[in-house]
Amino acid sequence: MAGNIRLEVVTPDKSVVSEDVQIVVAPGSLGEFGVLIGHTPFLTTLKMGTIRYKDAGGRDRFIFVNGGFAEALPSKVTILAESAERRGDIDLERARSALERAQKRLDLKQDEIDFARARAALERAMHRLRLAESGRSA
Ligand code: ATP
Repeated sequence: MAGNIRLEVVTPDKSVVSEDVQIVVAPGSLGEFGVLIGHTPFLTTLKMGTIRYKDAGGRDRFIFVNGGFAEALPSKVTILAESAERRGDIDLERARSALERAQKRLDLKQDEIDFARARAALERAMHRLRLAESGRSA
């Protein structure tokens, strides 16, 4: 079916995207999935990763997403994420500092909860850096 689908990406702090797009590809917990207009409704959890979409003009766009939920309806995809930002909004210095902090924490002997937290922070920072850097060479 031809036509655009509405994409909404929302976090507790902000609306990251609210626009009509051609296609959305997102990192579902069970694997990456793509949604076009007219898709059968479904609901899924998301892994940390990158949401890609083609905007109405056909340009590829990228968003870092820190897990969450996606609801696909025939004319709308809603993504609720703990945190998310557009590739161009990723602050490289901030991600580098977060990476360094997390690495220092992982080097300390600590309990499992702190270790898991530091590991998750490290993964967020690494994903952000990879995504931001992919935009520099693009
Ligand atoms: P930090 O330790 O730097 O806060 P974090 O991974 O703990 O990083 P999150 O909890 O994922 O941060 O996000 C908190 C808020 O800050 C969100 O609104 C997120 O979009 C934003 N944010 C976090 N890191 C960056 C970054 N490097 N560039 C741009 N925005 C960021």
